[in-house]
Amino acid sequence: MDVFTPSDRSFLMAKVRAKNTKPELLVRSTLHGMGFRFRLHRKDLPGKPDIVLPKYQAVIFVHGCFWHGHNCRKGSRPTSNTDFWNEKLEKNIARDNANLIALQAKGWRCLTVWECQTKDAAALSAMLHRFLTEH
Ligand SMILES: [Zn+2]
Repeated sequence: MDVFTPSDRSFLMAKVRAKNTKPELLVRSTLHGMGFRFRLHRKDLPGKPDIVLPKYQAVIFVHGCFWHGHNCRKGSRPTSNTDFWNEKLEKNIARDNANLIALQAKGWRCLTVWECQTKDAAALSAMLHRFLTEH
């Protein structure tokens, strides 16, 4: 059974296309350029954080605004099939929150970088620098 209406489908396809790894690559190259060393996708940590900086006891998630429910224009939800989307996206948000709580309980500092926050290179490096140098 196909749960998607045609408008859902085109919406979804557009989002899938937009969901490449570019924001994460931007964050990585910014960190690298600032001289921070990191590891990727550590499976032994809750939520498999995208970027792990052991020296700083810090993890960074790079989240797509749509799939992780950012409160911004890119995070707006489809206007059809709303129950389906609300349930799916609320689950993602709940999972993200649970991961952050579990990581913090283990003593990790956490930062979520949203896709829309990777557009401005200067603001992105300022945010990353602040997160990693402020204790
Ligand atoms: Zn956003």
